Amino acid sequence: MSTICLDPGHGGKDPGAVREGLAEKEIALQVALAAAAALREAHRVVLTRERDRTLTLAERRRVAAEAGADLFVSVHVNAAGHPQAQGYEVLVRPEHDPASRELALAILEAIAERFPERRNRGIKTAALAVLRQPRPGCLVEGFFLSNPEERELLASPQTHAALGAAIARGCAAFVGGVEVKPWGGGSAGAGRERKAPPAVLSPRPPESPPARPRSAPGGRPTPG
Ligand SMILES: [Zn+2]
Repeated sequence: MSTICLDPGHGGKDPGAVREGLAEKEIALQVALAAAAALREAHRVVLTRERDRTLTLAERRRVAAEAGADLFVSVHVNAAGHPQAQGYEVLVRPEHDPASRELALAILEAIAERFPERRNRGIKTAALAVLRQPRPGCLVEGFFLSNPEERELLASPQTHAALGAAIARGCAAFVGGVEVKPWGGGSAGAGRERKAPPAVLSPRPPESPPARPRSAPGGRPTPG
């Protein structure tokens, strides 16, 4: 049994990206809760928040530290200035850290299996302050709120459940041990053939920094 810290991005006064009335903070919370439910069968799970509240990055790190978490996964959705940007990606800090990359890859693979029709943008690096922790950690950007097709996907509770289950599967694969149920009970539908995601490590392309004030895990090393 491992202790897994899940961090629903944003919250409270910080909605994250907002498009057409859909707020990133709500989606992130639903996805993280679904991941937590799947993981609790076999692991100890702590969440940095379980409701809509404001949290600093330092407070998020503290939750993981106080729980003695073995790994940390922050859950977000993406947004970009142009509506064509699409897909999912997982971010890790740029320093050499094979464990975090292995965790990121396990989560990418699980999302790719569940959403084979969506674009796998691979592993990206960013100096995210929330990931500045002495444990493997990554930040999942599950689809673009700014892309009309993906926004529709993100509006659906089934997507929250499926994305959460995929994140749980990736975490479970990383820590090993008891397998987490594939898709959180939903019907999979899509093909199961395994597509190896590109294990590329590239800096975030310029399109990614979204057209929104990105105060939270976005990137600027915030003091505190
Ligand atoms: Zn975010």
